[in-house]
Amino acid sequence: MDTHSPALPQFGFDNSFSRQMEGCFVAWQAEAAQAPVLLQFNKALAEELGLDPVALNSEAGTAIFAGNQVPEGAAPLAQVYAGHQFGGFSPKLGDGRALLLGEVIDRHGKRRDIQLKGSGRTPFSRSGDGKAALGPVLREYLIGEAMHALGVPTTRALAAVATGETVYREIPLPGAVLTRVSASHLRVGTFQYFAARGEVEQVRALADYAIERHYPEVSGAENPYLAFLLAVANAQAVLVSKWMSLGFIHGVMNTDNMTISGETIDYGPCAFMDATSPQTVFSSIDTQGRYAYGNQPAVMAWNLARLAETLIPLVSDDKDQAVEILTEMVNTVPDTYEEHAIAATRAKLGLTSAAPDDVELVNELLAAMEQGGADFTLTFRRLSDAVRGDAVPVQNLFSGLTGINAWLERWRARLAQDDLAPETRAQQMDQVNPIYIPRNHKVEEALASAVEDGDMSAFTNLLGVVSDPCREADGQQDYAMPGPQASVPYQTFCGT
Ligand code: AMP
Ligand code: MG
Repeated sequence: MDTHSPALPQFGFDNSFSRQMEGCFVAWQAEAAQAPVLLQFNKALAEELGLDPVALNSEAGTAIFAGNQVPEGAAPLAQVYAGHQFGGFSPKLGDGRALLLGEVIDRHGKRRDIQLKGSGRTPFSRSGDGKAALGPVLREYLIGEAMHALGVPTTRALAAVATGETVYREIPLPGAVLTRVSASHLRVGTFQYFAARGEVEQVRALADYAIERHYPEVSGAENPYLAFLLAVANAQAVLVSKWMSLGFIHGVMNTDNMTISGETIDYGPCAFMDATSPQTVFSSIDTQGRYAYGNQPAVMAWNLARLAETLIPLVSDDKDQAVEILTEMVNTVPDTYEEHAIAATRAKLGLTSAAPDDVELVNELLAAMEQGGADFTLTFRRLSDAVRGDAVPVQNLFSGLTGINAWLERWRARLAQDDLAPETRAQQMDQVNPIYIPRNHKVEEALASAVEDGDMSAFTNLLGVVSDPCREADGQQDYAMPGPQASVPYQTFCGT
């Protein structure tokens, strides 16, 4: 080790949560990692956060990302929360293997949390070891960055550090720490923790904090807490409509994994669907299919109902009246979702206007895709070829042509109602229908090579490809293709 220590990276922390939200966390320290190595560093994100990438991409930065050094101005803490997990309520979860280092104000003036995940045990660890394995850390890094590039609100990854330690799951695995950046780590489960304990004033303080941080525009509303619920519902509806438009399956939509900000969080057993089917489930623990692709909008609404319940005492002293008003609001969620979903799908189909039959048009396509075993991502992408005059690439994705041909005819008639030059339309479609998503077999390949051989090149290549998902590039055809049909369905495992 060097005898003189280099200047430590500066974050300029401004920690509103630790200042204002007493009772919602425990101040805590990370466990030091034995031999940290910085495997991945997100220079573009560091710049967006107003940080110095050179100072961070260093030994001093590595020590911070490993939890070995507390950066100046940080106030590390573990947050408390509860949550419905697969429908059953756990009254006390909390950050069992994560620590919020603090908050920074980014280049756009937005407040962002910087959190270590996998940094050791906390008072909320229960029987867990507080650690994370390298595979799941890299998976969260990769999918989060892909989602960001696809225009989906998401937490992001600033760094991934290998700890040099072994963590034990079913087998011994290399350990790692992820540095995660988010709009905040407030979850539906954060509200549930205090509501379940009858701590109404703490729920109010949380709601006031969340409004100030995420939805300041609702603070002037007649009833700010109702307006807050609607704002969260809208953000979640936007989010889930984006997931659905990309064939993304989160896999663990527990209320502790649902943010108040509307960002996707906690990439565990998530995956993108290949062949189209609403029943698609990848997670090995989701045996009932609760979080299947087609159930996601309904689960989102269910989770929002759990948030609404926590707000009952804030809405009115008359409980019956509060329940009535909140129920009415929760009942509007499916329509809000449908509005966002149809708007997203119209863009995918190259439609520039709205017609009453569009929902039916979309449903007919999805049915044909399901029946024809068509790849979700490529079907939408290849529709732009059809606009340019060649329907063969999209037809080739279907096992039989009757369904898709009938649909193409109907779609062409509908396109004729929207006056737009074919090439312009095709280009607009190519901007919303990605050619590259993190294909399951490519993700597995990249993680296996990083974990088993210590070789990060496949990961780096894949990260590069999915970071520019809509621009088709030479030499990358392989990344666009679904994996070889496995005899066993693809399964993902929780990142624990
Ligand atoms: P997750 O499945 O990552 O959303 O985590 C659900 C809950 O389990 C959270 O309270 C986590 O902090 C906790 N948890 C998950 N893995 C571990 C672990 N290895 N050690 C301690 N707590 C964990
Ligand atoms: Mg979680």
